[in-house]
Amino acid sequence: IKYKSGQLDMEGALTARDRVGIQDFVLLDETTEAAFLTNLKKRFSKDLIYTYVGTLIVSVNPYKELDIYNKKQMDTYMGVNFFELPPHIYALADNAYHTMLTEFNNHFILISGESGAGKTEASKKILQYYAVSCPSTTLLNTVRDKMLMSNPVLEAFGNAKTLKNDNSSRFGKYMDIQFNSEGDAVGGHILNYLLEKSRVVHQNHGERNFHIFYQLVEGGADDLLRQLGLERDVQHYNYLTQGECAIVSSINDRNDWKTVKNALQVINFDEINTNHLFGIVASVLHLGNIQFDSDSKASIYTHLMLFSSQLLGVDAQSLQEGLTFRKIEARKDQVLTPFTIDHAIYARDALAKAIYGQTFTWLVNRINESMENKDPSRKTVIGLLDIYGFEVFYVNSFEQFCINYCNEKLQQLFIQLTLKAEQDEYEAENIEWEPVQFFNNKIICDLVEEKHRGIISILDEECLRPGDATDLTFLERLEDKMGNHPHFVTHKLADKMTRKTLERGDFRLLHYAGEVTYCVLMCQSKNAIVKECFSTMDPDSRKRPETVATHFKSSLLKLTEILMAKEAWYIRCLKSNESKQPGQFDEALIRHQVKYLGLMEHLRVRRAGFAYRRKFDVFLKRYKPLCPATWPHWRGEPADGVEVLVQHLGYLPHEYKMGRTKIFIRHPRTLYATEDAYEKC
Ligand code: ADP
Ligand code: MG
Repeated sequence: IKYKSGQLDMEGALTARDRVGIQDFVLLDETTEAAFLTNLKKRFSKDLIYTYVGTLIVSVNPYKELDIYNKKQMDTYMGVNFFELPPHIYALADNAYHTMLTEFNNHFILISGESGAGKTEASKKILQYYAVSCPSTTLLNTVRDKMLMSNPVLEAFGNAKTLKNDNSSRFGKYMDIQFNSEGDAVGGHILNYLLEKSRVVHQNHGERNFHIFYQLVEGGADDLLRQLGLERDVQHYNYLTQGECAIVSSINDRNDWKTVKNALQVINFDEINTNHLFGIVASVLHLGNIQFDSDSKASIYTHLMLFSSQLLGVDAQSLQEGLTFRKIEARKDQVLTPFTIDHAIYARDALAKAIYGQTFTWLVNRINESMENKDPSRKTVIGLLDIYGFEVFYVNSFEQFCINYCNEKLQQLFIQLTLKAEQDEYEAENIEWEPVQFFNNKIICDLVEEKHRGIISILDEECLRPGDATDLTFLERLEDKMGNHPHFVTHKLADKMTRKTLERGDFRLLHYAGEVTYCVLMCQSKNAIVKECFSTMDPDSRKRPETVATHFKSSLLKLTEILMAKEAWYIRCLKSNESKQPGQFDEALIRHQVKYLGLMEHLRVRRAGFAYRRKFDVFLKRYKPLCPATWPHWRGEPADGVEVLVQHLGYLPHEYKMGRTKIFIRHPRTLYATEDAYEKC
């Protein structure tokens, strides 16, 4: 589709519309879900996976390599107005970048969608775009390489094959790319969120542990494996085989190992650090193979204990004691009571998870050091948010609860920043407005996080209650407090409400994206959740320790604050089918996502609304050279000047509205014509 001086070339548009559908849903004839899906499907069948809703991008996972991410494409999109070319994430990346440079403000790109929808791929492509397209000097190139190379390293340690996605992110990631006033990428910083540590010791059927374990065992040199005491056989390791799919055809662990080794060098890992890192990975594998006999002594594989302790740099005797005895300190005496086998296994797994989790955090810190901005001049940032997507498994535990809660928060942020803020602004500006109805998921966020009343608060209370707190008492407390909540269902209430059975020990949340049943009794240990809950026990026992859930909740709150202070751009990723097949457009699945992501509501607000708005004085200052009556000075009220100006520019009455303090223009493309005139002027 060609635009001539901001006008749509109708002839071109009609033929293009028949061929490849509409590029921007805002231009669709009707705003029905059916029309939306038909357009999406038509485009998908032509491998056109991106479509706009105004400046928001809808992306449908093609599950096949498309030749649209090459250097030529990047060059094409550089510095071009948003609507002049077919929709692409490069257009969004480029627009955020140029807005940042002209307005000196900070931006973020929120990439959302369920697990496997294409978020991580999108975020990598955007990072590549900045790395390749921004101006560069040799010095800055190194920062850039480090930013790019942080990806394979973090993916190796933080991603894994799940049933939903062969490369599923098991941690949340927010990355700031920092630019100086010339637009050079000068640094980066990563914030990571709750890694799914339980995967280190347990994987569901059809899933794997984190990639790095398989990469090391498959790809590590003979010498390295000998040093680390590892066998070249993934089947040999308990922690790698529970999902019974250690080897997967879509994953080439040996090649990935080479990439990771290379990437580690780029991000300044010397040999000592690298050896240390792989030593820790190996020690986790050894720990997983330690077994206990009936006296709970780790006697069968004592040499494993030795290996683990050597690699971890701790004394073997202490490690053995720590895994097999409970140590109680009473005054000056120490009492050692032997663990049962179950307890010993639990202690072993807890240690493995803790070691891996701490190593991951250390890795992120090291990467941050290497990407640190050494340029003291004024900088602005573009943040990329790629967090684990909404997911429902057969068994959902504490980690799914956190992941899905996180997705509720991001949906809430989206609603606040788009639908609600938009409608509030029209109201405040006295713009005539027909409110658009939307489902506000705040009610579910509150259910989870509200002070004193939310699920997390109740969990905290149970964790800290001395005495007989167990998973079941936690569930009972939830039933007492939440019994009547429209989004909470337990065993007792299940039959009444949904008529779907719930096991005793389960509760169900009706999330914005669908219902999920969570199991509180994961380990059959009497109080699994209570034990799992503490991130680090504070040795100063007078201080109330923070639980993992509470820590996660406050880190999400901080993230929201970071994002709210920036200008937002959105990529909404849709999963095309459940079986990861190229070219398959599962209409029911996509309809469901379109619905819960609120895309129809967003479209209605966009269509009824005004995409561009500026304070009268700001607008007048920028565009007054275009009209003799306002140039060089307008002596009256700014609002009157703006009115004179827009009429002179030929805007029709339905194309703009005058608010109390701002002018609103319906479609930005009419404004681009103005921008062009401005540039010429
Ligand atoms: P998410 O991060 O949303 O869980 P990913 O970004 O990891 O999902 O995507 C899952 C898989 O889908 C990728 O490994 C890749 O095979 C495929 N995929 C996603 N986006 C694209 C794309 N733009 N082009 C080709 N394949 C893609
Ligand atoms: Mg991902």
